[in-house]
Amino acid sequence: MRILVVDDSPTVRAGLRRMLEPMGHEVVEAADGERALSVWKAQRPELVLIDVQMPVMDGYATARHLRSGGEADWVPIIFLSCGEEDQDLERAIEAGGDDYLVKPASAVVLSAKIRAMHRLETMRRRLLETTHELAASNRQLEMLSRQDGLTGLANRRYLDAFLSTEMRRAARTEEAISLIMVDVDFFKKYNDEYGHQAGDDCLKRIAGSLQSSCRRPADLAARYGGEEFTLVLPDTGADGARRVAATLAAAIGALAIAHAQSSVGPLVTLSQGIATLVPAAESMPEELIQRADEALYRAKEKGRNQAVAHGG
Ligand code: GH3
Ligand code: MG
Ligand code: MG
Repeated sequence: MRILVVDDSPTVRAGLRRMLEPMGHEVVEAADGERALSVWKAQRPELVLIDVQMPVMDGYATARHLRSGGEADWVPIIFLSCGEEDQDLERAIEAGGDDYLVKPASAVVLSAKIRAMHRLETMRRRLLETTHELAASNRQLEMLSRQDGLTGLANRRYLDAFLSTEMRRAARTEEAISLIMVDVDFFKKYNDEYGHQAGDDCLKRIAGSLQSSCRRPADLAARYGGEEFTLVLPDTGADGARRVAATLAAAIGALAIAHAQSSVGPLVTLSQGIATLVPAAESMPEELIQRADEALYRAKEKGRNQAVAHGG
């Protein structure tokens, strides 16, 4: 272990060094509390042996400073003092110390105490690591629970939660919110012609275009289910939604995915239904979805490969 020895007496420091080094420890020294703090910052010792009575800043004050860094910075602190009163020990523990030895400490006792502290420190570190790993796993899980497995877009569950929050926000701020329902044209025939695996790949590429077509941080691209997708565009009116739909159509066109069995043309195309609302306080997400669905149905009816706005 790297051990910081803090004592104003050079004789005491040298004595401790003579004891600790043969035990295999590395010793760094400080002659007073203030210097101890800077050495501690620079060298990050794994244990601190500290004298109680020192000029400039005494051991108690120094320990309190060392402890002020929070849990992540915790190192064991052992006080070394001439005081044999119960109150001396109590004050040391109160200041944040973990143990208290009366000077002069024997090598055997010192070595045993250091081993006990080392054990504590090891357990604490493992606990910290486990806590970090757990937090990382939780973040990962949280992300996965929002994601559609095939496309990586938001899944239906997250879409529902997101939409409901955004509807309420829009009602409060009296801003428009738009939703685009997107459906791949003749996708059943695509699967029949190229196979299910190719169908999956096609959906993934379409998902990429959806993601890149809504560029505002507040926008959400989600997989509604099957070959249907949804774009939620907060704070976006009918014109803005139309532009996003056009961008998406162009992006899909640029993918130029062959679709020999489509009645629309030689490439994969989308139909889109757009709905825009300035929601009333009691408006439900279903209302927006319903309207976009109706518009999508009209787009299909009118020959597919186009975007139709609800009521337009
Ligand atoms: P329309 O132009 O009217 O939308 O015709 P369509 O064939 O796209 O519509 P329909 O709803 O009849 O068929 C959708 C097809 O999408 C059926 C299903 O095989 C396919 N599909 C849905 N989910 C997936 C998927 O995850 N992977 C693949 N490969 N195909 C899917
Ligand atoms: Mg469909
Ligand atoms: Mg379809």
